[in-house]
Amino acid sequence: MARIICIANQKGGVGKTTTAVNLAASLAAAEKKTLLVDMDPQGNASSGVGVDKSLLRESIYDALINDTDATGIIVGTDLPCLDLLPATPDLAGAELELITIADREHKLKQVLAGIQHSYDYILIDCPPSLSLLTVNAMTAAHCVLIPLQCEFYAMEGLSQILNTIKLVQKGLNRSLRVEGIVLTMYDGRNNLARQVSDEIRTHFGSQTFGTVIPRNVRLSEAPSHGKPVLLYDIASRGAASYLELAREIMEREGRDG
Ligand code: ATP
Ligand code: MG
Repeated sequence: MARIICIANQKGGVGKTTTAVNLAASLAAAEKKTLLVDMDPQGNASSGVGVDKSLLRESIYDALINDTDATGIIVGTDLPCLDLLPATPDLAGAELELITIADREHKLKQVLAGIQHSYDYILIDCPPSLSLLTVNAMTAAHCVLIPLQCEFYAMEGLSQILNTIKLVQKGLNRSLRVEGIVLTMYDGRNNLARQVSDEIRTHFGSQTFGTVIPRNVRLSEAPSHGKPVLLYDIASRGAASYLELAREIMEREGRDG
């Protein structure tokens, strides 16, 4: 049965999609059957693994709103162990349409229930908001992974998302856990980045991953080629860092039983 990890932070551009795509690819490279779920109407995770959204007949929108079976929507990728449940811009409309649907926070959970047994990991890429789409992802997930950019407002943003997680734990998903905080786009030469990183580690201790994702140009180039970084430049620091993060996640799971 898959471990479902939701990758969320309401702040835009902090590395959610880069983390979702490259962590998913790294788990798949370790021969873990992995499903990447695109819950963002921007569809960046879908294009990030090379899927041409204009050619899709159906997307996650149909699974959420029309109860279409997800098995028929899932597409393969260049990595044998990595599948994608794609998103297109019409997912933006789902946000409004969900409001009138019964059980509106549980729709993604229902969608994944039928396919969860086919995977070792399911990674959900969330939009930059704490909207109903993100709440659906948190309700469906076992845990939340929070990518965090080491900048001045990072701590403030963090308390907002931790509050949302608490609310979801109270009302919708009691067993939801924080998988951890992963520092992204890290530049060790930058004093502020070092300070923020120290502060996060002091406050959140072992909830912060040991792996730090460096700022690496290969990570930002790979999506324009429709490839996870390990298929674009396996020798890059970016690729090494996400392989390391995947290893840390697999190890944690082994330890937690
Ligand atoms: P959004 O909130 O819009 O969904 P996001 O949180 O998913 O954004 P990304 O799309 O992953 O963030 O990253 C934002 C930008 O930063 C992208 O152009 C991406 O290529 C770049 N980027 C992400 N991580 C790194 C990194 N470690 N090094 C260099 N560039 C990066
Ligand atoms: Mg994104």
